[in-house]
Amino acid sequence: AMRHLPYFCRGEVVKGFGRGSKELGIPTANFSEQVVESFPSDISTGIYYGWACVGNGDVHKMVLSIGWNPFYKNIKKSVETHIIHTFKEDFYGEILSIVITGYIRPEKNFDSLEALISAIQEDIEEAKRQLDLPEHLKLKEDNFFHLPERKMLNNH
Ligand code: ADP
Ligand code: MG
Repeated sequence: AMRHLPYFCRGEVVKGFGRGSKELGIPTANFSEQVVESFPSDISTGIYYGWACVGNGDVHKMVLSIGWNPFYKNIKKSVETHIIHTFKEDFYGEILSIVITGYIRPEKNFDSLEALISAIQEDIEEAKRQLDLPEHLKLKEDNFFHLPERKMLNNH
């Protein structure tokens, strides 16, 4: 799972398939199918962590899931980023830049919604701890988050 890390990726935030992540208090910004297709095909599904930035905004901690996309009968992957920050507004259509720096665990099925939510809360706590370590923290300052090309991608 670590072979492709750190992994840098940038793309538009699109509408997901309404799993109700936001209702659970853990909204996940979905990348388009095109961006997902550009990922290494052998990257493991599961929960990862790293850094994320919306448009030209600040860089925040994030947890990310690479999973099987139910919309495509689980033959295609989906990549969803939960940014550990409270945003005033949704940011559909904006450019999300991420660097994935570490892996937490494989995908799991949960017996209850409560079990799912508490697992995600643990993932978030784990991500926060790991990202404070120097080897992960250094990627927060990576030039990737400060490149002028982002402006072009953003149609400015
Ligand atoms: P969808 O099924 O469309 O992905 P979600 O319930 O997963 O819907 O909500 C995701 C949307 O919520 C994102 O596309 C973004 O616009 C918004 N959002 C607001 N705060 C966050 C956050 N902290 N992390 C990720 N997305 C967020
Ligand atoms: Mg989502």
